[in-house]
Amino acid sequence: MAASEPAPKTPIYLDYQATTPTDPRVVAAMQPFFSGSYGNPHSTQHAYGREAEQAIEAARAEVANLIGARPGEVIFTSGATEANNLAFFGALAALNGERRHLITLTSEHPSVLACFEELTQRGYDVTILPVDKEGLIDCGALEGALRPDTALMSVMAVNNEIGVLQPLEAIGALCAARGILFHCDAAQAVGKLPLDVKRANIDLLSLSGHKLYGPKGIGALYVGRHVRMKPVLFGGGQERGLRSGTLPTPLCVGLGHACRLAQTELAEEVRRLTFLREHFLSLLAGSLEGWWLNGSATARLPGNINLSFELEDIELVLTHLDDLALSTGSACSSETSGPSHVLTALGLNTQAAHNSLRIGFGRFTSQDDVEQAARRIAQVVSSVRSGEI
Ligand SMILES: *Cc1c(COP(=O)(O)O)cnc(C)c1O
Repeated sequence: MAASEPAPKTPIYLDYQATTPTDPRVVAAMQPFFSGSYGNPHSTQHAYGREAEQAIEAARAEVANLIGARPGEVIFTSGATEANNLAFFGALAALNGERRHLITLTSEHPSVLACFEELTQRGYDVTILPVDKEGLIDCGALEGALRPDTALMSVMAVNNEIGVLQPLEAIGALCAARGILFHCDAAQAVGKLPLDVKRANIDLLSLSGHKLYGPKGIGALYVGRHVRMKPVLFGGGQERGLRSGTLPTPLCVGLGHACRLAQTELAEEVRRLTFLREHFLSLLAGSLEGWWLNGSATARLPGNINLSFELEDIELVLTHLDDLALSTGSACSSETSGPSHVLTALGLNTQAAHNSLRIGFGRFTSQDDVEQAARRIAQVVSSVRSGEI
């Protein structure tokens, strides 16, 4: 039976929401800044430092350009986790306890939810809004949750597990009308979908290099010029005093180049990945029953698919699918056992949430990869159901 055909040595990579490979063009752009232009970008008294500084400022401009910001509004961080932490703790410190109510969603990334847990410990009043069965926020419920003492609202652009895209412009308008800070964790959206911080009235936005074909260990926080912030790290006062520490020139350059590539290739990638996603779903629909797509089918990241299967236990399927690199739930939540908090937030029961696969297509996924994935998933699920394996 084909289900037991030998697995190729290299599994097909279908986990683009966990991380993306660094684009070789990005690696090439970074290369000169390790042993060549190695100056400290903050040592601008000499040519070594100035060369590094110029490269960093060019990179900052590329990041800003991709999200519709000004270069001075981009603070480099180590990634989206740090950007999220700086956004909340930095902005709330500057507010000095003036307003103590915060809002977020049940389906947010752990790096947001854990911050809100800590803020609850510190005496903030946190409302965690539910999402509907498509994974979308209910703007009516949101409006009802807003209070005169609401300081900040955090809603992710695109969910890392189910790829669902929240209506950012509607949320931004509600917040802007009331002077509430709007933070957006856009790690899964930047470079994948058009996004403009000014149009969506976003005050703070987090992004991550390794989610958009840049290197790991770099990200950025957009801080609108009007937003008051205090630092959470203290030191040399780099990054407008908000993020002390020597900037990693190669990583900043890599993030900048990744943003530039995303900008030029975004429209074509959206088209190609949407085609691959629909192609996969129709192939699977033609060869297997008893599964469904989790999250909105339309308000969705082009390269993301999240499926639940009618099965006793997905583990046996995963064991036999070692020729495909995919994940159950998110990379973060699969380290902790228990069903995904995102899938249960959609109303799935424990078993349906457990029997799920997240499939992520990206820049280096071919049509052949997609066809093989659909064929193998159908084969293995059928064989597990029939008790053949
Ligand atoms: C990956 C991810 C993060 C964390 O980003 P790091 O750069 O790895 O810290 C945060 N939020 C979302 C939505 C993500 O997908």
